[in-house]
Amino acid sequence: AARTVRTLKIGLIPGDGIGKEVIPAGRRILEALPASLGLKFDFIDLKAGWETFQEQGVALPEETVSVLKSDCDGALFGAVSSPTTAVKGYSSPIVALRKRLDLYANVRPVKTVVSAPKPIDMVIVRENTEDLYVKEETTRDTPQGKVAEAIKRISQRASSRIATIAGEIALRRQNIRAAGAPSIHKGPLVTITHKSNVLSQTDGLFRVTAREALTAPRFADAGVKIEEQIVDSMVYKLFRQPEAYDVIVAPNLYGDILSDGAAALVGSLGLVPSANVGEGFAIGEPCHGSAPDIQGKGIANPIATLRSAALMLEFLNEEQAAAKIYAAVDANLEEGKLLSPDLGGTATTEEVVQDILRRL
Ligand code: ATP
Ligand code: MG
Repeated sequence: AARTVRTLKIGLIPGDGIGKEVIPAGRRILEALPASLGLKFDFIDLKAGWETFQEQGVALPEETVSVLKSDCDGALFGAVSSPTTAVKGYSSPIVALRKRLDLYANVRPVKTVVSAPKPIDMVIVRENTEDLYVKEETTRDTPQGKVAEAIKRISQRASSRIATIAGEIALRRQNIRAAGAPSIHKGPLVTITHKSNVLSQTDGLFRVTAREALTAPRFADAGVKIEEQIVDSMVYKLFRQPEAYDVIVAPNLYGDILSDGAAALVGSLGLVPSANVGEGFAIGEPCHGSAPDIQGKGIANPIATLRSAALMLEFLNEEQAAAKIYAAVDANLEEGKLLSPDLGGTATTEEVVQDILRRL
């Protein structure tokens, strides 16, 4: 039986630079999803970024926040340029959005095609609200000179919810694989990353809490395996043996570093998506910036954004729709005929988008 049609309201925040070129591609892929999925979209154009700051004196207008909060199910965020030197009153809109909407998880899948010489298929789940990034820093003078200190805060609540969402992601990935997607993994595995051998209280709490959350029956019964890795040896293994990882869960700072490091494993920033996830809300966001060097040339790789749109759908419980987008993108990459210049091809953004839309 056909399900009733679900309409998702999606905020579109292109931002600056190539954000304006790739976000429309994200919109088109959502609109092109087969009607049989029973999904419709209402899009709402919203502003944020450096250009917005220059027009309105704020990088994140209140209007954008309130529309996202009250009218939207999810959003796609492009990229924002930031001034090279600090400008009074300017601060990153995506950082502010994460706070205002309590988007506590930053999720970054890093994946190659299965036929790559060294295939990778992992997702890094980074806690996004605490750890050293609470920004409680002080500096004091001492007879030996200045001493600066920063608070590293780890809570049971934040550690538990990030581990729980990591477990859910592991299960969903397993479902998508079971539905026939080619994969390099046999079963769901979550790797908990920490440095509790040195930071026994903070990282110790993260470790114990994450372990406890991930041993809940709904994960254990579904075969989710848990592994731990000290962050320094993790970096080593991540580069030597990246195929060993499925889902990685980490506190904020380690997650930040690991997710950029892992992105370097796949050849182009133009391939790597992310999502900022909160309770019942997700913002898809390509990992790249506004790329001023290629802005306006029509050659930005849209794949990071298309994958971000799919990732957003995953968190809005539209797993099937997400799987269709992933499959169409993978098919384009596997064939390798219509690739953008960052991947060594000559295709324009438009040609890549058309090829992927055709495969949908
Ligand atoms: P920002 O300050 O906005 O982060 P940036 O100068 O750091 O801008 P990035 O967007 O981070 O630039 O990109 C780094 C490099 O990767 C640039 O050379 C850029 O052209 C390239 N790049 C980034 N995204 C893409 C993409 N989608 N397609 C092709 N090349 C890209
Ligand atoms: Mg950058």
